[in-house]
Amino acid sequence: MPEKRDYYDVLGVARTATEDELKKAYRKLAKQYHPDLNPGNKEAEARFKEANEAYAVLSDPEKRKVYDQYGHAGLDGQGFGGFNGAGFDIDLEDLFGSFFGGFGGGSRRRGGPQRGANLKYRMNLDFMEAAFGVERQITVNKEDLCDTCQGTGTRDGSSPEKCSACHGTGQVNQRQQTLFGTVMTARPCVACGGKGTVIKDPCPSCGGRGRRQKSKKLRVNVPAGINEGEMLTMRGEGEPGAQGGPYGDLYIEVHIRPHPVFQRDGNNTYCEIPITFPQAALGCELEVPTIDGPQTYHLKDGTQPGETFTIRGKGIPYVNRSATRGDHIFRVVLEVPRHLSEAQKEQLRQFDQTCSDNNYQKRGSFFSKLKDLFK
Ligand SMILES: [Zn+2]
Ligand SMILES: [Zn+2]
Repeated sequence: MPEKRDYYDVLGVARTATEDELKKAYRKLAKQYHPDLNPGNKEAEARFKEANEAYAVLSDPEKRKVYDQYGHAGLDGQGFGGFNGAGFDIDLEDLFGSFFGGFGGGSRRRGGPQRGANLKYRMNLDFMEAAFGVERQITVNKEDLCDTCQGTGTRDGSSPEKCSACHGTGQVNQRQQTLFGTVMTARPCVACGGKGTVIKDPCPSCGGRGRRQKSKKLRVNVPAGINEGEMLTMRGEGEPGAQGGPYGDLYIEVHIRPHPVFQRDGNNTYCEIPITFPQAALGCELEVPTIDGPQTYHLKDGTQPGETFTIRGKGIPYVNRSATRGDHIFRVVLEVPRHLSEAQKEQLRQFDQTCSDNNYQKRGSFFSKLKDLFK
């Protein structure tokens, strides 16, 4: 592994950087390398993670102090390590807000067309749906343009009139006398609410707002191999922009319900299979569950409890490369028989008497080590 880069170098800031400078540098990198904006780009993903980690540490005064004094070593083993996305919450909305000009409203520049708000939708999938992909219909409730007036807010569909109070600028300048002299301040126009236009005869359907609450059905193709927390982007399915601006986007965040048998890590699947002592000792043809259904696996004789075995290419497909798949890894768990009858016990005792060190590798070497110890 290449040596870990200095956090300040990662963010491209001086060691004396202020909180604001750090934030600015981080946002710039996050914007450049965000996985949603660089689909499939491993390099970008790595840079994004690196920037997240650097910012997570440097934006926390406590951690930054430790890092400044001891470097990376200072953060190991203090519960600061192991950045894998979990435990560190970047406010994604906050992040996107800075990309696209806001998740709806706020103190934004008034006047010209503005991009609409981005929306987030949470989608729950079954384990197998995520593994093999699925087509889903979802219903998104959102503010959309009023059908009656096409978003103009006027009764007859005509354009709103220019506000006479502010001459369409949405702002009025006020002259104020202060201790320091005359000061000109710009304030939002009260007559038009800062929009620069007024509606004399409002649309009866929306009351002049130009918008109504609507629910829209959308078909979503969830690709095979999608993983927990990943996002699908549907361009232009957010809310409409102000003043005729473009629609925002819809982000669909995927959550996967746990499976009773399989676990998943990346593109590999995992399961545990209980086996009996004779199966382990003699070997057997084992029915191994995979996401494709049961598969016969030849278990060798002398299999030990907890041993793991890999079936190549039986894991989860890679997104957009469904011919390539991860592996299926199973662990055998030895179940010791209980409630033996007297006859069974006797058989086992007899069997045990026939065994020697030759049959038990670990046991043999363990006791010979003990012998050396107490000589
Ligand atoms: Zn309307
Ligand atoms: Zn006005």
